[in-house]
Amino acid sequence: MAREIIRKDTAYAAKANMPDYDKERASFSWEDAKAELDGLPGGKLNIAHEALDRHIANGNADKTALRWISKDGEPTDFSYRDLIGQTARFANVLRSIGVEKGERVYSLLGRVPELYVTALGTLKAGSVFCPMFSAFGPEPIQSRMEIGGGKVLVTTKALYRRKVAGIRDRLPELKEVLLIDGDGSMDGTRNLAALMKDASPDFPVEPMDPEDMALLHFTSGTTGKPKGAVHVHGAVVAHKTTGRIALDLRPEDTFWCTADPGWVTGTSYGIIAPLTIGATMIVDQAEFDAERWYRILEEEKVTVWYTAPTAIRMLMKAGADMARARDLSRIRFMASVGEPLNPEAVVWSNDVFGMPFHDNWWQTETGGIMIANYASMDVKPGSMGKPLPGIDAGIVARQDGGVNAVDDQMVIGELALKPGWPSMMRAYLHEQARYDKCFVGGWYLTGDLAMRDTEGYFWFVGRADDVIKSSGHLIGPFEVESALMEHEAVAEVGVIGIPDETAGEIVKAYVALKPGYEESDDLRLDLIGHARKRLGPAVAPKEIAFRANLPKTRSGKIMRRLLKARELGLPEGDISTLESDEK
Ligand code: ATP
Ligand code: MG
Repeated sequence: MAREIIRKDTAYAAKANMPDYDKERASFSWEDAKAELDGLPGGKLNIAHEALDRHIANGNADKTALRWISKDGEPTDFSYRDLIGQTARFANVLRSIGVEKGERVYSLLGRVPELYVTALGTLKAGSVFCPMFSAFGPEPIQSRMEIGGGKVLVTTKALYRRKVAGIRDRLPELKEVLLIDGDGSMDGTRNLAALMKDASPDFPVEPMDPEDMALLHFTSGTTGKPKGAVHVHGAVVAHKTTGRIALDLRPEDTFWCTADPGWVTGTSYGIIAPLTIGATMIVDQAEFDAERWYRILEEEKVTVWYTAPTAIRMLMKAGADMARARDLSRIRFMASVGEPLNPEAVVWSNDVFGMPFHDNWWQTETGGIMIANYASMDVKPGSMGKPLPGIDAGIVARQDGGVNAVDDQMVIGELALKPGWPSMMRAYLHEQARYDKCFVGGWYLTGDLAMRDTEGYFWFVGRADDVIKSSGHLIGPFEVESALMEHEAVAEVGVIGIPDETAGEIVKAYVALKPGYEESDDLRLDLIGHARKRLGPAVAPKEIAFRANLPKTRSGKIMRRLLKARELGLPEGDISTLESDEK
């Protein structure tokens, strides 16, 4: 399904933070990258220092760090100095209630300014920050807080009443609940605003060892029960470096990462990377709305935009005219993460915005971007790009308990990384065996299948769990989904294999249609015909089912395992992160 390569204008490429991928790769070292951090005396460091406090000495403190847009569209600005003061107050509050270094502070908040203060204030105090999606129900909250042994929870009155009060007695380690809108009327909680008011706005950033735990992030739960990935303060060098190289971020940028901090993207790139670089970041409190998003891009003069395939597909569904009605000329770079980005979406964005979305790949476990399409590099639609300078990626095959490198081009194998980069997870909390299983033969195995082409571009095939074996063919759902996405009627599609006596498995596609299209047998045949033409009969779906929506995680990933469980009448497994539902 080769698409035309999107060539980069040489003048544009020359202005990128990384003008030449090969050169940077040849000369890059993490030691040099580390030297660009400010650091703290004695080889110590702290993410909060790199993100906030260091900007006092470099004269950036009065610049806007965070422009927060409320649900009703009102912007409020917070300068670096404002955030430095507020996070100091928060850190002092933690100290005053007896919270120590290394203890876990959880948040259960929507995208409100207090969330950002909690995250960075916790890091400043040397405690560990663990964000949860505010839409989680009591059960996922309980299990995550139990795993991390949460000592403090920062939330709102309404969220506490609805979701936490009923499970509080099952959380013996939870000592303090701080309500951002508390008034002292709820038992067992404190009023954070009042505590903050009384606290000092000065707090010397806690000097941390680079290996000290900073963040606890739960994976998305796409393939099963979420795992708690541990990240350390030293990861900040990767956040900053990848922000600079993979997102082309600069201090003068207005950067909008649309992810919620409940998901790792919303912390690594929705908080840490832009602030360490000294940019201005946009945070929108509201949920996705195509019209609103285009308005924000235009009015806030966003220059770098980082979003996800689900959102892009919804923008495509809303139509190009909505985008064309806006002045989006300030945008310089657009990137996408979280799921494979269909080539159709890359081509569409290049037509509509005059530049493509740059797909990049990483995981909660990797802490930061690992494989990316860069500003200066030609884009092959459908490819996730090349490994970051400083990252060795390979394709491997598991064999007899070990692994072999697959050196052949365009041969499917498991995507693997050479361990040792700064933002690599240090543990799955309390799951040592599961963690150990990720490392085989000197590689970290990602659980994703991919291929590499002759020019070193990587191509995502599918998660190892999702790959379909049909009549001797290994079929990646992404390829089939991408072919169906080209059809004018298709808004979204999820592909699974279902058991079949003769073929082993056959390919089945679940399709959500664009507005104006009705499901019918004719359309079903048309879709199958289109897929056969693009993929051949062996790979094209044999069955198509129409759905209004596909089941997705809160971070926007299609849950193919749920499509399959429902198809086969099997137990649904862990659905704590399920967002939209087709039922
Ligand atoms: P869980 O591990 O709990 O099943 P998850 O893997 O979805 O959930 P995340 O860490 O949020 O949790 O997501 C990482 C995964 O998302 C990757 O392993 C990959 O499967 C997918 N992914 C992320 N970015 C891309 C991309 N650009 N292209 C293809 N897949 C991607
Ligand atoms: Mg995963």
